[in-house]
Amino acid sequence: MTDLKDKIGLIVGVANKRSISWAIAQAAAAAGAKLVVTYQGERLEENVRELSESLVNPLILPCDVTDDAQIDRVFAEIDAQLGGLDFLVHGAAFAPPKELSAPFVQTSRDGFRLSLDVSTYSLIALTRGALPLMERRGGGSVLTLTYLGSERVFQNYNVMGVAKAALEATVRYLAADLGPKGIRVNAISAGPIKTLAASGIAGFSGILQVYRDRAPLRRTVEAAEVAEAAMFLLSPAGRAVTAEVLMVDGGFHAIGT
Ligand code: NAP
Repeated sequence: MTDLKDKIGLIVGVANKRSISWAIAQAAAAAGAKLVVTYQGERLEENVRELSESLVNPLILPCDVTDDAQIDRVFAEIDAQLGGLDFLVHGAAFAPPKELSAPFVQTSRDGFRLSLDVSTYSLIALTRGALPLMERRGGGSVLTLTYLGSERVFQNYNVMGVAKAALEATVRYLAADLGPKGIRVNAISAGPIKTLAASGIAGFSGILQVYRDRAPLRRTVEAAEVAEAAMFLLSPAGRAVTAEVLMVDGGFHAIGT
């Protein structure tokens, strides 16, 4: 079993108990990590506080990832209360609903900007904030969540596919930048899972069925399975792995016809 005892982790992107970030938080807590969990806006504060009652003494902070002042406050607070950081899990993503239903060619400038700001740029901003705290601990591990829609066209995934392509490139550039400091940066490309974010994609149930029919494992994946793969990348077991997009999708990505 993964050992994250004495490790401190920041988890961004918990909306509710179905969130992939929450599954990772639970696995990391079970492995002994001390966690900082953020929530976006008052709407989600109660959810995150309630869920976090199962964690040992978590630090719970607000963080809208489009707001640099909030990001600064998160890291100032971690610095003041915990003095360092060993890992960061980035599970924030958003695209305005109309960008996920209109034909892709109708993608608006504002919708594009907001989708890439929340879903892609935020990885750079959060990693930059984490950097001095990870350096103090002698290195660290950054993990984000992506989807195969970065490489292939999935109906209604639209601008989110563009955001995920940029996110995967961001992983590689950050990994190259920070590798010499002992900081690894990776992504997990998860198969489709019914979460709040997924509910915004029309036809999502159809995508799940395609995975059941055609993935080599003939099934979809669960958030807990993504979390187990995350434990590998966050823990010393993954210490030689960086700049990687690890497919946790039952093998669907390998299938042609
Ligand atoms: P989720 O539970 O809805 O998590 C997405 C999180 O991003 C929510 O907590 C959401 O908060 C947050 N977020 C949106 N805008 C934000 C902002 N400005 N600042 C801070 N947080 C913000 O859905 P999920 O499926 O677990 O998604 C987690 C990650 O996995 C995403 O990157 C997603 O693209 C990726 N992923 C999901 C699947 C899937 O099938 N579910 C597959 C592959 C990859 P709000 O609810 O307030 O917007």
